[in-house]
Amino acid sequence: MQDQVAVLLELRQVDDELRAMRAGLEARAADLQRKHKEADAVREALTREKDRLAAAEARHREGDREADNCRERKKKFETDLSSIKNNTEYHAMLKQIAAQEQKAREWEDVALQMMEVEEELQKTIARVAGDLRLKDDAVAEERKHYETDQRTLADREKELALRRKSLIARLEPIARSRYDRLTVAKGDALVPVVGGSCGGCHYRLPPQTVNEVRGGERIILCEGCGRILVWTDT
Ligand SMILES: [Zn+2]
Repeated sequence: MQDQVAVLLELRQVDDELRAMRAGLEARAADLQRKHKEADAVREALTREKDRLAAAEARHREGDREADNCRERKKKFETDLSSIKNNTEYHAMLKQIAAQEQKAREWEDVALQMMEVEEELQKTIARVAGDLRLKDDAVAEERKHYETDQRTLADREKELALRRKSLIARLEPIARSRYDRLTVAKGDALVPVVGGSCGGCHYRLPPQTVNEVRGGERIILCEGCGRILVWTDT
């Protein structure tokens, strides 16, 4: 029977290792997802800046085009001017010419402003694109780690499954079902005796129980929490 407690302890070691490896892999997966989200946020920011640049460029072209149109109209009015004999009409045409000149300058200002906006946006885009490369590299790196861990876990799981099978084969059915049931119900089936109490629930154990656990003759359950008491040297 002493063997049973030793087998249970070894079984728990196997299960602890499996649990820790799976938790580690889950943490890696969460890291990978977080880095993915960070990269996607930067990617979206880059798209927004590029859209802004496209809008500024369109407005720039509009300014150039409208300025050209105004100057063409102005030129036509100036040509027409020579054929006008009526004084009132002549002055009206001069006003039209001045108005076209004014409008042309306004459109040129728009084009100039857009040029400045474009310059700033191009700087921003270069910076954000650099950020994105770093974030994408981080994702690729993290994915490599994750895939390595995944393979390692799969290999180790195979080994541990074999070991678990051989350990379970050595357990008496009652010990095995208690272990399985307690692992599911309490997360851990085994609790050490610490200073004469249950190390899990701190239930004060009768001295005779402590002696029995130390002797390892049979499986003893804590009266407080129902888990299997084990003797460890510490
Ligand atoms: Zn207990």
